[in-house]
Amino acid sequence: MTRRQIPKYIKRLWANLTYTDQIEMHLDRPLVSFTFDDAPRSAFNEAREILEKYNCRGTYYVSLGFLNQENGTSYSSQDLMSAWENGHELACHTKNHIDISKSNITDFKESVAENHVQIQKIIPGYNFKNFSYPFGAQTVCSKMHLSGLFKSARGNRSGVNHGSIDRLNLKTIRLYEDSESPDHIHSILMEALRSNGWIVFYTHGVEDNYIEDGCSPSFFESVVKDVTEMGIRVETVDRAMDIILENRFALTH
Ligand SMILES: [Zn+2]
Repeated sequence: MTRRQIPKYIKRLWANLTYTDQIEMHLDRPLVSFTFDDAPRSAFNEAREILEKYNCRGTYYVSLGFLNQENGTSYSSQDLMSAWENGHELACHTKNHIDISKSNITDFKESVAENHVQIQKIIPGYNFKNFSYPFGAQTVCSKMHLSGLFKSARGNRSGVNHGSIDRLNLKTIRLYEDSESPDHIHSILMEALRSNGWIVFYTHGVEDNYIEDGCSPSFFESVVKDVTEMGIRVETVDRAMDIILENRFALTH
């Protein structure tokens, strides 16, 4: 952590100490979700193709301010529509990729609402059900605001979700090829098997010339293959949340 990140860290720590919405997880087998933040066009092309090859679907946390950017790395309306029509989930990441640790709650709320307006222009009637915090930044006010709008909000804290989880601060495992090895990912999958937990993987671009917050198609496919060969069920975040909510009152023996 650098000095500039200290305010973000303190605000997030305070938010998660003082405002949570805990859900008890009682799964009888583990779950995995593959998620993409922002998300670069390669997530809609290369990564989606790999997911569908293994009959899996993903969740795209989109900031619609990134739609049709001129540098050619961003997705189009057609990419969004096609992903949705094929069973993938589109979820919210604010329109302008707002860092709530540096912004105010009014701008944050506006950016969440604007993202919703934009998606409805592309897919009329579509409602985002789940959220991920840009830069993993969280405050008490942002968590309170999101609690009434979404089933879940994903942070960037590393870990497997199991036991009592804060639905407004889901843990995640990043798929950054330069900092995660397939062996480490496999050990986390084993942990999910033991705990009947839920792993929410996240990455950004999935391409041969990936940057530090992404991975190559071969790395991504190795993880999807590992998950499916282990017999672990893959669901979108939305479907996984439904399963968890349906089973939250299950009796334990
Ligand atoms: Zn982001």
